[in-house]
Amino acid sequence: MKRKSSRAAKAAKISKPALRRTKTRKYAPRAKTAAAPKPKVAFYWCSSCGGCEEAVVDLEENILEVTAAVDIVFWPCALDFKTEDVRALPDQSLAVAFINGAVRTSEQEEMVKLLRAKSQLVIAFGACAVQGGIPSLANLKDKESIITRAYREAESVVNPKGTLPQENTTLHGESLTIPRFYETVYTLADVIPVDYYLPGCPPTRSLLEDALHAILGNRLPARGAVLAPNHSLCKTCERNATKPDRLMIQDLKRIHQVAADPESCFLAQGLLCLGPATRDGCGQACIKANMPCTGCFGPLSHFDQGAKMLSALAGIFQAEGETAADHFAASVVDPAGTFYRYGVAASLLGGRRKERSHG
Ligand code: SF4
Ligand code: SF4
Repeated sequence: MKRKSSRAAKAAKISKPALRRTKTRKYAPRAKTAAAPKPKVAFYWCSSCGGCEEAVVDLEENILEVTAAVDIVFWPCALDFKTEDVRALPDQSLAVAFINGAVRTSEQEEMVKLLRAKSQLVIAFGACAVQGGIPSLANLKDKESIITRAYREAESVVNPKGTLPQENTTLHGESLTIPRFYETVYTLADVIPVDYYLPGCPPTRSLLEDALHAILGNRLPARGAVLAPNHSLCKTCERNATKPDRLMIQDLKRIHQVAADPESCFLAQGLLCLGPATRDGCGQACIKANMPCTGCFGPLSHFDQGAKMLSALAGIFQAEGETAADHFAASVVDPAGTFYRYGVAASLLGGRRKERSHG
């Protein structure tokens, strides 16, 4: 999407060193000199689980130093700001908006467009905003079957009249409107121009800290960059050295079916690990807990994560013949959910991509 050139110039104005990195990597508020206003920051969530909000809270005591260095002017998950507060702000008056979650409703679309207008920088924060995340697995189904399942068929539902939510309802003379539920799940960049991407489910504390330092120290890379390394998780994985020179597997096992060796490469053990197709930057959180990577940091630039992983598997699949191939394929119980768990909306699959009725 084309960006206004004036936006880049305005973004440069947030370079005032309101935060600086100390030896202990802690934030330090700027010394009190002239009454320079602190940069204004917003956090917003769309379709998400709340994990990205936890990642902000995970800054722990540093959150106090962040709030000393910036003004958080909108954070619906944690603070009681209203939409009107954002509407009242001048355009471009926010230094940065961190937006997590995928976009599926008219309310979310309206809010992210509002935040785009008010912000010099917009950061897609977390797997759902970057790639659609787990919510975009819903793109493999149509809207009607999702609503029917949720409101009529789910085992926990008691709904004898089969009532379904309506966009507009009138009851006792009062009318009630709820946001429109779109046909499909969108990434943030499908809806508004995005300046930077912070991947992960959720992004790690260290990635968020580095992003804050880069933003407030004016050390950001070119617009459109993913603020995480552009190499695969395998490159830094401490188990990589245990991979045989010629890795070959005949079938795939699931993690609960074996006692995984805590030091060997999961793939070498016949356990599906998405490390070869996943961007580095998480600090190998799962690997260190003896769990294979499920791919939450998404693909490297210019790759489709699922296709890349299937290609990697094709290169190490050893058995010959149709039966062996069928057995291998059957060992992946949920192929779409396995290879595209965090990114159907941004993938080659795309899902059911119908136009929104407006916007
Ligand atoms: S496949 Fe998984 S366990 Fe093996 S080196 Fe890559 S990230 Fe590490
Ligand atoms: S190991 Fe994979 S799934 Fe786990 S945090 Fe890292 S990128 Fe995400």
